[in-house]
Amino acid sequence: MKRKMAMDTLQFTSITELNLSEMVEFCASLEGPSYRGEQIFSWIYNKGATSFNQMSNIPVSFREQLAVKCRIFQTKMHIITASKDKTEKFLLRLPDNNFIECVLLRDGKRNTVCVSTQVGCAMDCKFCASGILGLKRSLNTGEIIEQILHIKNHLPSNEHITNIVFMGIGEPLANYENVIKALRIINADWGLGIGARNITISTVGVIDGIRRLSREGLKVNLAISLHAPNDAIRNIIVPSNKKTGLRNIIAVAREYFNATRRDICFEYTIIEGINDSKQDAKLLAQTLKGVQCNINILPLNPVKEYNLTPPSPEAVEAFCSILRNHGIVATVRQKKGNNVNAACGQLRLRIQKS
Ligand code: SF4
Repeated sequence: MKRKMAMDTLQFTSITELNLSEMVEFCASLEGPSYRGEQIFSWIYNKGATSFNQMSNIPVSFREQLAVKCRIFQTKMHIITASKDKTEKFLLRLPDNNFIECVLLRDGKRNTVCVSTQVGCAMDCKFCASGILGLKRSLNTGEIIEQILHIKNHLPSNEHITNIVFMGIGEPLANYENVIKALRIINADWGLGIGARNITISTVGVIDGIRRLSREGLKVNLAISLHAPNDAIRNIIVPSNKKTGLRNIIAVAREYFNATRRDICFEYTIIEGINDSKQDAKLLAQTLKGVQCNINILPLNPVKEYNLTPPSPEAVEAFCSILRNHGIVATVRQKKGNNVNAACGQLRLRIQKS
């Protein structure tokens, strides 16, 4: 089995890992004209082709060469689970038999795909299922893109993907090069054609990564998982904060806004008895004073392995009111897909442990 996988890796070019110029170059290596690359991408990204046989405007001999030299998908759909609120969670098997999750969230006309960027996560946030098994490896660009393609191909023809959020398993900015390449494919007209305004990168606060992202010219939305109003609390629930520090995160958030003119979204998982007091809300408002931002308050989605619970809805509302009274736009995000283990990493954790 291992030998076969190694052969696969050696022999096949994964199309989902290529950008347009690389695809054109690849077609040229097969003596195909330069427009062939765009044709193939159009079949995969627009028409949902899953095999070369479907590419009817490409000569049969060229299709046969493609079938020998490359593959469209390196990942396989393993399980799909659906919840009552129409959230669907997809578990994909990777070529090395690891699993990753992606989620489709439906909200009116908006269909958001939440993608993973790593197998596991090294950040070890103390409320998150994704960090429990540690980091195994980062995903390549194709493994990121295919999460979106599998969901796109799964949707009925009258539904489309409107938004992409990098909020699944892993820290996107710890897999910088592959994530940026995937972003460009998602955003490109020859790729998935999703506008930068509809793409969000969520980070726990990788300072260098945020700074580099601000210079990419991509202008995607930035969400920073803050979860605490000060270093004392954040050091406990987000251990990576011991290295970064809240002050540096706020400074780089300002830099990102100045470079992109995109409001920063701060995410705040609210946990009973940890970060939910009125004092915490006042402190948070002070910490974010003058930052062009909004806050998403996310009542904790409990993970069995941690003994933590969300506050009551009344307590969450009281917390939000304090923020609003300080002029901050604060929104409570309702949990979606609870009965499909939709909290980041829960389904994978269940499968890997079984
Ligand atoms: S919350 Fe995000 S950064 Fe933290 S452990 Fe989970 S996946 Fe990693």
